[in-house]
Amino acid sequence: MSITVNYEYKLKPTAQQVKTFEAWLSVCKKVYNFALRERKDWVNSRKSAVNACSLVSEYILPADASRPTYYSQCKSLTAAKKNIEELTEPHIHVLQQTLRQLEAAFVSMWERGHGFPRFKKKMRSFVYPDVKQSAVESGRVKLPKIGWVKMKMSRPLPLGFIFKQIRVVKRASGYFVMLTYQLGVQVPDVPFSGHPLGVDIGLDKYLATSDGELVSRPRFFNALHRKLKLLQRRLKHKKKGSSNWLKLQRKIARVHQRINDTRKDWHFKLAHRLCDNAGAIFVEDINFKAWAKGLFGKHTLDAAYGQFFNILSYICWKRDVFFLKVNKDYTSQICPNCGTHTGKKDLSERIHRCNVCNYTTYRDVAAAQVIRNRGVLAVGQPVGLQIASGGVLSGASSNASLDKIP
Ligand SMILES: [Zn+2]
Repeated sequence: MSITVNYEYKLKPTAQQVKTFEAWLSVCKKVYNFALRERKDWVNSRKSAVNACSLVSEYILPADASRPTYYSQCKSLTAAKKNIEELTEPHIHVLQQTLRQLEAAFVSMWERGHGFPRFKKKMRSFVYPDVKQSAVESGRVKLPKIGWVKMKMSRPLPLGFIFKQIRVVKRASGYFVMLTYQLGVQVPDVPFSGHPLGVDIGLDKYLATSDGELVSRPRFFNALHRKLKLLQRRLKHKKKGSSNWLKLQRKIARVHQRINDTRKDWHFKLAHRLCDNAGAIFVEDINFKAWAKGLFGKHTLDAAYGQFFNILSYICWKRDVFFLKVNKDYTSQICPNCGTHTGKKDLSERIHRCNVCNYTTYRDVAAAQVIRNRGVLAVGQPVGLQIASGGVLSGASSNASLDKIP
């Protein structure tokens, strides 16, 4: 498990460096669009049988041509560099990363039902996927093949993290660099002691704990979001590219940054607070990407639960609190007190009331208690301990009897 953080700084490039950025972005765009063209042609050539006469399909490619992949396109790129001068200018990793970006767009389409990738009118960023630890210092960053570029130190560089990636981003207000850092977090291999705490993330509350605490969504987000909306509305009345428009763009970027910073800060505080009262914390194992696409959509994206769980696992690790993700299935359909399967609750049903043992509490608190029970059982058994120290928890709660112990 690892925690990833992005630190963004405004660049102060020289005129020559700006020229290079522009040239690279232009080549990246051409490479992206060319590779997309190749993939589109392949798809079109397969739309109908080769011997059928069709007006809509193209037969550019032979029927047995294999599907263009990231690897095949990287190979073609290397070959094309011999003949096309322009392709030799950007760093090869930067161009390969552009092909990877295209591959990712296709994967999103196949796996998450996103639309067919489109041709790019503009390329806004390029990426160096692996970088030397020494490539960044306070006040400057070394971009391979470009050299040191000055940057504005709006905040200090993070300590104790591993420097992973550099992204150069073009915005209306100038060039920025996004530095990606990572920190590996290990699942502790000691059994937990102390108070176990289950955490359920929810819809109308930010989260609920098995101790009965309900944490509300913080209000300050509303004020910041209102401010953002206001600025964005105002932007429409300004002439695109004018100095007032630029000024407003910069202001909007600052509000975005503030929302992110404020949210992260709140996440850290909340994680610490939960650790104050717990020897072990158990949360649901959720695939946030799939989740965000479903019912909860924008709502959960804004709540940034994925980030919160990363931060929580990191703080737990720092403070020697045991942290584990457990199976999330049916947490709202089981009585935490007696283990009875109570059946599906309607979303509007906010109270859990068990017909068998009469146990009554908030729905989200009951779910948090089920999560806590699963966690305790997962690590309380010899087999569970093994699973926990291996860092993978599979099927810890697939056994229905796991929920029988309060
Ligand atoms: Zn019950």
